[in-house]
Amino acid sequence: MHILVVNCGSSSLKASIVDAVSGQAISASTIERIGETVPNHAAAIDAALATLVGDGVEIRGVGHRVVHGGEFFSRPTVIDDAVVEKIEALTPLAPLHNPANAQGIRAARAALPHLTHVAVFDTAFHSTLPNRAKHYALPEKLAKKHGIRRYGFHGPSHGYVANLAAEFLEAKLQDLRVITCHLGNGASVAAVEYGRSVETSMGLTPLEGLVMGTRSGDLDPGALLFLAREEGLDIDGIDHLLNRESGLKGLSGVSNDMRDIEERAAEGDRDCRMALNVFAHRLRKYIGAYAAVMGGVDAIVFTAGIGENSALLRHRAAQRLDFLGARLDPDANRDARVGPDAPVAEISTRRSRCSLLVVATNEAHAIARGTADILLEKDKVDTQRTIPLAISARHVHLTQEAVEVLFGVGHALTVYKEISQPGQFACVEKVDLIGPKRTIEGVRVLGPTRPACQIEISRTDEFHLGMDAPIRNSGDVANSPGITLQGPAGRLTLTEGVIQARRHIHMHPDDAAYFGVQDRDVVEVEVDGGGRDLIFGDVLVRVKSSYVLEMHLDTDEANAANVMRGQQGLLSATGRDVRLRRKG
Ligand code: ADP
Repeated sequence: MHILVVNCGSSSLKASIVDAVSGQAISASTIERIGETVPNHAAAIDAALATLVGDGVEIRGVGHRVVHGGEFFSRPTVIDDAVVEKIEALTPLAPLHNPANAQGIRAARAALPHLTHVAVFDTAFHSTLPNRAKHYALPEKLAKKHGIRRYGFHGPSHGYVANLAAEFLEAKLQDLRVITCHLGNGASVAAVEYGRSVETSMGLTPLEGLVMGTRSGDLDPGALLFLAREEGLDIDGIDHLLNRESGLKGLSGVSNDMRDIEERAAEGDRDCRMALNVFAHRLRKYIGAYAAVMGGVDAIVFTAGIGENSALLRHRAAQRLDFLGARLDPDANRDARVGPDAPVAEISTRRSRCSLLVVATNEAHAIARGTADILLEKDKVDTQRTIPLAISARHVHLTQEAVEVLFGVGHALTVYKEISQPGQFACVEKVDLIGPKRTIEGVRVLGPTRPACQIEISRTDEFHLGMDAPIRNSGDVANSPGITLQGPAGRLTLTEGVIQARRHIHMHPDDAAYFGVQDRDVVEVEVDGGGRDLIFGDVLVRVKSSYVLEMHLDTDEANAANVMRGQQGLLSATGRDVRLRRKG
């Protein structure tokens, strides 16, 4: 299967036709200096296609490299207008890359409208980072407002080389703890624990972490303040300094290219020696840290321009790792050569518990494979679009009469926060649920008021309260158990109304038409990517023109599938998607 792989930067375009199975590039084209050589991205795409397409090679799909997927994307995604808009909406997080990626996508979709286009995200592989690794120690509110957290980059490469390493070691990636060091012009390290990225050195942007060609990597944030005060640098000045003038280039004073630096260091240039030392020291520090994060390491992988070619840097980074069980074989290291035909070379001794490997990365292959996987799945079922997943924590719907009993005569519910389903809102008001056994305090009321009271709780809540509630569709409360509600102004005992909400998907009629389902159909849904993949059966489809496409799970269900927990009493989007399945 041949895939056109497009990597569109702000002023350049790399395109190649890649065999998704072998990874071999059939043909490739690079257009530099867009704006000068050709007027714009659309013209660049046309020019690239003119040289690539022809000779009877059938292209099955187009894979686009997209740098930032933010909270939206955790896997390769079929591109439609909404996806392009989301990519553009992430511009503040990747101001140089995402607009260029989106422009490339628009141009390619216009030029090849009959093909399926797939976005493959640099960040997606790291969507499995646990919260403790994702969070910066900033005020949580601010971080949330702007999506400031660790995202990680080079995902296709880290995933690709980790898989090749596992294959080489004749093991399953799920059984290994691997540290992957992608050392190119941009450089990052990832801790891949049993198949999932759990730490990585790049963060909100690709500026954090290792020393790179022209980027500083880690720096005391106080240094920025210092530079602003003492050097009078403004935002653009700092941006330029850290992204373009630092790293190997800044340290060496001569070049961002490791080959030049190695050459001059060998000739005795002190700054170049220092550049090598700082680069290698930083890398060793990360390797040690990531071994600690995973409680051990089974393989350390070196890849990309420097990782694949610089025996010196590998030697510097991997020496004295005996305490991790990693023993470098200096001869094997010196002689290691990797390429398309032999993509993996082992550079550790036979006694080494932890394998040291050089692996040839191939990002275009990774993108082609991600694209091909989606196309094959798409051929299998026509239900490829994913469905956003929201967690519905325990909550209470009230009648106006009940509101007045609990909160006072004439009281009207107050909006705390709109929720995703139009017209619905979480209220400021909360009530206590008093069960036969125990009480649950502070349960959020959802507005607007309804013709009947309804209390939606999870199975765990039922055990806690000491009751047994049926699984019901919303609105169907006949013969369900009652409960006592306590509000600030009074207490209300209901004779019925407590249910476990049946898991369901809200759909607009257009969505139903897309998925080929109807109101009240019962479907299966697959949740994956959290390390506790789960297929939910008995999922009810509810179609209404006022609904927004979304699946609702309760907290027990979400926890079982390891979906990030929502806030209490709210219907909270999780940033995760699910997939509709054909039954049987
Ligand atoms: P990117 O794709 O991020 O632009 P690459 O993966 O091509 O970068 O890596 C570029 C880096 O690899 C450069 O610093 C280059 O000097 C280095 N590199 C390539 N070949 C060698 C070599 N033989 N020895 C040392 N460094 C090398």
